[in-house]
Amino acid sequence: MMQSLGLLAIPAAKASTVALQENSGKGKTVVILGAGIAGMVAAWELKKAGYNCTILEARNRAGGRNWTIRNGTRVEMTDGTAETCQFADGHYFNAGPARLPSAHHTILGYCREFGVPLEVEVNSSRSALLQCDSLNGGKPVEQRQVMNDTRGHVAELLAKSVNKQALDEALTNEDKERMLEFLRKYGDLSPDNFYKGSARSGYKTNPGAADQVGVPRDPLDMHALLNASLWEAMLFEEMYDMQATMFQPVGGMDQIAVAFETRLTGVIRFETPVEQIRQTPKGVRIGYRDRKTGSAGTIEADCCICAMPLSILKTIDADFSPDFKNAIEGAKYDSAYKIAWESRRFWEQDYSIYGGISFQANRRRGLVSQRKTFFGKRRDRGRIRHREQHTHRQIEFRRKTGRLACRHRTPASGLLERTDQAGLYFLGPHPLQPGLLDRPLRPERYGPARLRAPHRA
Ligand SMILES: Cc1cc2nc3c(=O)[nH]c(=O)nc-3n(C[C@H](O)[C@H](O)[C@H](O)COP(=O)(O)OP(=O)(O)OC[C@H]3O[C@@H](n4cnc5c(N)ncnc54)[C@H](O)[C@@H]3O)c2cc1C
Repeated sequence: MMQSLGLLAIPAAKASTVALQENSGKGKTVVILGAGIAGMVAAWELKKAGYNCTILEARNRAGGRNWTIRNGTRVEMTDGTAETCQFADGHYFNAGPARLPSAHHTILGYCREFGVPLEVEVNSSRSALLQCDSLNGGKPVEQRQVMNDTRGHVAELLAKSVNKQALDEALTNEDKERMLEFLRKYGDLSPDNFYKGSARSGYKTNPGAADQVGVPRDPLDMHALLNASLWEAMLFEEMYDMQATMFQPVGGMDQIAVAFETRLTGVIRFETPVEQIRQTPKGVRIGYRDRKTGSAGTIEADCCICAMPLSILKTIDADFSPDFKNAIEGAKYDSAYKIAWESRRFWEQDYSIYGGISFQANRRRGLVSQRKTFFGKRRDRGRIRHREQHTHRQIEFRRKTGRLACRHRTPASGLLERTDQAGLYFLGPHPLQPGLLDRPLRPERYGPARLRAPHRA
């Protein structure tokens, strides 16, 4: 109540949503399945309350999807192939999560509790590029232009509607005046309520000193903007968990996993994939395999917390009720694909883009690359560094009218996401045909990197 009345500060980053009584777990055992962030949070909170916890983790590392790849990291595919990262020292790639929104109070709270240093992650940039074949002759346009020209056209239309009495039922005469005043500001309209372009959209001739007046760009045509349908790209950062301020741990997202892991020494049993879940009269019995020896084993506990993805859980031999099994079976996961490589910092050097995400129209995600530090050192050798499983698209990079283009032949997605140097990140439901990504990037420009078919997890 005090908080909602504004009389008491709302805690900005709350470390824990559970408040277990000290020693309430004494003498009780818990087996936790999976040492991702969820499993480790559970173990950390229970351990503080005195529970005796064991985490069974299939891999030889903690963190799960929270995984940062650096020089020397070995990436093993489920098809048996493997690749070792050869990034320059100090470079890294967040293969899974890469950003922490301000709204993620709990994980930010753990960062505060464990002293994990955070830095701002630049999630959007008005200089980022949006590309659609039908707009501007197919040449990418800056986000600032799409946003402000769209806004200008909408403001002009609304002003016309107001003046043609089309909104008289909704607006009083006073409202109408105030609305027009707002629209002139919102859309940067002329005094007679027309959108004739705006310096907010950028310049065709930049302003200089003294009498060198800048010449704003001509506005993009409204019909072309409507046709291009770049709305997802334009409004991406309006999503609640995409809004500034966005954070990332200094040195890689896995610093959060490391912070948990170091506090859970002796609790996590690595390379111990769970194979069976059974309920017993006293609690649970979990069957597992020890990957190092190949032998099977079991562990009994008073209770079990499953922190494995449902896509894995449904493959485990478990005595769940039919309803529960159906629910797991029905859960669908989205697909993602992320690629990183090293290259010179073309997005900064050629396009003056510092942070953010660029997009292509009619894809669920678009293109770009960024890094939180700017003016980093040059890397000439392009190498694909990571293949994150799942579905993806046939893509080919090409230089198009002097600009970087990312082309997809299947009707969806592709986001070249901000990574530590550069990267690709695809989301989409369509499976990739094997070998479709075995295409060279432009070696003369980005080095001998090759896009390769993903593994499947
Ligand atoms: C590409 C990508 C980008 C993302 N970006 C963001 C982002 O920017 N911000 C954000 O907040 N979130 C992001 N997410 C989501 C975030 O990564 C996940 O929500 C979070 O990491 C899930 O943690 P978890 O512990 O629930 O699961 P997981 O991290 O999947 O952990 C499950 C653990 O179970 C283990 N396991 C699997 N099978 C077995 C078995 N049989 N026996 C024992 N152990 C097993 C796995 O090895 C793993 O360690 C992203 C996810 C992906 C994939």
